[in-house]
Amino acid sequence: MIYNEYGKTGIKVSAIGMGGMRFENQEDPEACASLMKAAYDSGINYFDTAIGYGKSEELFGIAIKEMLKTRSKKPFYIATKTGGGTAEAVRKDLEVSLKRMNLDYIDFYHVWCIMSLDKYRERVKNGVIRELEKMKAEGLVKHICVSTHMAGADIKTLLSDYPFDGLLLGYSIMNFAYRTEGVQAAADAKMGVVAMNPLGGGLIPQNPEQFNFVKTRDDETVVEGALRFLLNDKRLTVSLVGLSNKKQLEEAISAADGFRPISKKDISSIREKLKKSFNELCTNCGYCDSCPEKIPVPRMMDAYNHYLLNKKNPDSMINRFKWHWGIDIENEYFTKCTQCGLCEKKCTQKLPIRERLKTIRKEVEIAREKKKAS
Ligand code: SF4
Ligand code: SF4
Repeated sequence: MIYNEYGKTGIKVSAIGMGGMRFENQEDPEACASLMKAAYDSGINYFDTAIGYGKSEELFGIAIKEMLKTRSKKPFYIATKTGGGTAEAVRKDLEVSLKRMNLDYIDFYHVWCIMSLDKYRERVKNGVIRELEKMKAEGLVKHICVSTHMAGADIKTLLSDYPFDGLLLGYSIMNFAYRTEGVQAAADAKMGVVAMNPLGGGLIPQNPEQFNFVKTRDDETVVEGALRFLLNDKRLTVSLVGLSNKKQLEEAISAADGFRPISKKDISSIREKLKKSFNELCTNCGYCDSCPEKIPVPRMMDAYNHYLLNKKNPDSMINRFKWHWGIDIENEYFTKCTQCGLCEKKCTQKLPIRERLKTIRKEVEIAREKKKAS
């Protein structure tokens, strides 16, 4: 395992972390706990969950009970998140998380899922950061961090507002161009940088032919190639792999253990191939993100990528909206497009955005009807 220092904290964390939102069989708590324990035994020491990841914190709690027995000799670090919009809500979230996980403190506590600068400012105004500072002073939280799905330029603004210890963001071979400015800003400020969804929410392993270009060696799998692309980026501290089972754990460990620095030539070649392979796909560059109707076009097109790569299965797109972007099917984004065409003019991939938005709207309307009928 490779270990990196988390920002300025002096803590050495594993370059591969375990994400806790994809346990294969949550009905079998012992099996889930045993997966987490196996990750710990394999050298992973950074574990990420959230109060809103279903049973994840409780499942973590079962494994943590065991892991606490060896923590003084073999440290581990727990990251979780609060979506609380007020000081009271944040305090309540922390109490729940501590209890569920059998912990006295959280190592890396995140202001969860900042979707826009306005939403962030609202939380600040409501005393969220002040409350986190209090919790830190009380020893309940060791480090205050932030997680976001915003574009790079907005992340940079966010990070200039408060000296967070770390940044958690979705980052993979599929969307690095969109967020690299944020990663750079965090690295410049010497923050820990944790990449979530390094496998594109499962799309990379599910489409090995399409993503074959990430391999720089004959002896590696597409998953190893995609993870090593991130391991090669010195600005990143941890790449989180949402582990479902032990096979995935083995592959993630092997990506780190077999890592060798990737040459600049190979990186340029991956970037070139990325452009070609993503002919029809949105690369999440963000250039179209100025819709007069405030529709988040890059997010819409990202979800459409999932639709295309999953044989036009609407669930893959709807789930992406819901779980990654926090956009419910009832959101007005789906019906607000005036078809003005501004976004298409700016699109670096020359994608038929307006047609895609019509398809998205059609699929969302079907999903709404199904929801009503159920
Ligand atoms: S075509 Fe629709 S999504 Fe694109 S800029 Fe115009 S209103 Fe916004
Ligand atoms: S739709 Fe086009 S311009 Fe917009 S983020 Fe995707 S590739 Fe970039």
